[in-house]
Amino acid sequence: MEDEARILRHTAGLNDQDLDGSEAEISAKIAPLKDEVDARITVMDKDGRVITDSKENPEKLGNHADRPEIKAVLKNGKSVGTATRESATLGYSMLYVAVPILDGGSVDGAIRISVSLESIDKAIDKLWGNLMLILVPTILIIAAVSIFIARRITRPVEEIVDVSNRLASHDYSSRIYGKSSGELEEIATAVNKLAESLETQMYEIRENSQRLSAIVENLVSGVMLINFDKEIIMANKAMYQILGVKEIKGRPFYEVIKSFGVSQLIEQSMQERERKQQEIQIYFPRELILDASVTPILMEDGEISGLVLLLHDVTQIRHLENVRSEFVTNVSHELKTPVTAVKGFAETLLDGAMHDEEVLKQFLTIIKDESDRLNRLIQDILALSKIEQKALPVQLEEIDVDDVIAQSAGTVKELAAAKSIVLDLPVKHQPPLVVLAERDRLQQILVNLLSNAIQYTPADGKVKIRLEDAASHVILSVSDNGIGIPEKDLERIFERFYRVDKARSRHSGGTGLGLSIVKHLVESMDGDISVASVEDEGTTFKIKLPKTPK
Ligand code: ADP
Repeated sequence: MEDEARILRHTAGLNDQDLDGSEAEISAKIAPLKDEVDARITVMDKDGRVITDSKENPEKLGNHADRPEIKAVLKNGKSVGTATRESATLGYSMLYVAVPILDGGSVDGAIRISVSLESIDKAIDKLWGNLMLILVPTILIIAAVSIFIARRITRPVEEIVDVSNRLASHDYSSRIYGKSSGELEEIATAVNKLAESLETQMYEIRENSQRLSAIVENLVSGVMLINFDKEIIMANKAMYQILGVKEIKGRPFYEVIKSFGVSQLIEQSMQERERKQQEIQIYFPRELILDASVTPILMEDGEISGLVLLLHDVTQIRHLENVRSEFVTNVSHELKTPVTAVKGFAETLLDGAMHDEEVLKQFLTIIKDESDRLNRLIQDILALSKIEQKALPVQLEEIDVDDVIAQSAGTVKELAAAKSIVLDLPVKHQPPLVVLAERDRLQQILVNLLSNAIQYTPADGKVKIRLEDAASHVILSVSDNGIGIPEKDLERIFERFYRVDKARSRHSGGTGLGLSIVKHLVESMDGDISVASVEDEGTTFKIKLPKTPK
């Protein structure tokens, strides 16, 4: 429009022309042009007075000096003035464009062209309509494509994040299953590999820790872990049993361990930062001898992070050691007595006593008796050690127990007769009572018990043997009405060399090993032996033998 205005100015030859007084001439120049430009054309002089107008009579039009487009050109010296407003004259929105008319270089008036915006508005509306027809489907397509692409990227990313979070919260079985491509696929594969390796490692760790805790839990020794703050972190079953406690985790060790010795050992190890070991006797919850060892767990900087306490029950070992050393002492002592006697009497004889035939005979008899006893003693010790070492396997055979009783009674018959002791035998079982056992062992047991019964029963006494059938077992009993065994000695009489009355037993030729041998023989055939006795009234030994040992 600006160009059009300039062209009009030029075509109508408005520049350098006296505008006032040439109204008719100017109107005539403008009239044919108005059809060419399809716009309203207005020409004003420098005061804003309308000289000609292509649509209206200039007389009717007021001064245009205040119109913004005219003001810009006439007053403000702009090369173009534009404005959009509702035309007071025409009554609808118009776009006005004015350019100055120059006379000798200075502004002498203005030419303005104006078009109705109605057509432009309509054109714009139409354009919008067309645009919408294209834009809406395009936007929808773009939106759909965007969502599709976004989903393709975000869904795998979300899954990767989700799986990573689950891995972080120890769910090692989670994997990325969704499909992706490019770098995302690489990340997904890497995360899956990581998850797989984590799962395998965790499985191995769990396996190892289960194995380790199974080992620790089932150790016969007590194990306890104590932290730097002296609190118990863990303890195994054996430790709970040794200490006789229930729940100890998290409690200070000095509250739980009642033994001063053990507590002191832990303190020492903690202070000196080195392993401490000591044999300690405890009395609560039961009397035990413990091999206690405390090992500090040292960190790289040498500081203590905790301690491991190991308690090993050595009560049994110490007891066995005592028994063994006692046995050696007893054997030496028992052997010494007859050897001393033999030596003493032989020396006395050599010193001249042998010339007295009476004394010679008496002393030689004593020497023979003592040698016999020595022999018996050695035989018994050898027998006992053989049975104890289980060197001789049990030779099982079907035996008639009544038969064995009769044979054993036959062996001790003379001994009994010498003291006028009655042997009361059971009535023979019909059909015979048969057990699977070793004949020699059973006979040895019976002979030993019968000899003892005769030995420790005064003359004119009575020794009774009974045999009972108790389904899977037989019960053999040997009772006497002899001197009996004091209650305090009852539980010890099966020990090696234990005698109630040492002097009397030795005098009677006993070795103190008989009952010990009997007990071992009974046990070798999976049997049981028990004793009941009342002093001065008598004693009963009962043997329970399975009919078929394992
Ligand atoms: P010993 O060779 O001394 O008889 P044993 O081992 O056979 O040794 O017996 C151990 C001790 O048990 C005996 O010294 C004796 O005091 C006591 N004893 C065994 N049998 C009887 C019994 N029938 N009556 C009383 N005391 C007995």
